[in-house]
Amino acid sequence: MALLRPDRYFTRVSLIDPQADLLDRGIRFVLLDMDNTLLPRDTHEVPSDILAWLADLSKCGVGALILSNNWHESPFEWGRRLGLPVVAKACKPLPIAYGRALRTLGATRAETVCIGDQLMTDIWGGHFAGFASYLVDPLTTVDLKHTLVLRKLERKIIGGMPPEK
Ligand SMILES: [Mg+2]
Repeated sequence: MALLRPDRYFTRVSLIDPQADLLDRGIRFVLLDMDNTLLPRDTHEVPSDILAWLADLSKCGVGALILSNNWHESPFEWGRRLGLPVVAKACKPLPIAYGRALRTLGATRAETVCIGDQLMTDIWGGHFAGFASYLVDPLTTVDLKHTLVLRKLERKIIGGMPPEK
């Protein structure tokens, strides 16, 4: 189960401090899940605190990329709007897309963390590919049917692990 245990767990991506939680730990790059990590599945608008957090990352010199399993055009649309590179159709937890993400950013595994709202894709996939992986709570309870089924199982796996903030 170690592959499914997040290295750190936050309630919201914008609570990850670019300096204390990333740079001070030698992390200079983040691979960000999109749906329900950056972009709520109900409003389809990136919340203002997350826009500010992304701007903060950039100001601090942390490189970011959207790594999404989404097969539609929206990761690319949001990549353009947010000024972030995108690797979509990633098939997380399979490791195939992670190398492309690293090459796009010019990053190494050791200085990169994967961040997302699902244990079965973001955390398992990140660990399987050799990355530290941070879990965040989903931005909304609205999600794809199969994701909602998986979430029940994920709740059991994560058990009583409390978020840090
Ligand atoms: Mg997600």
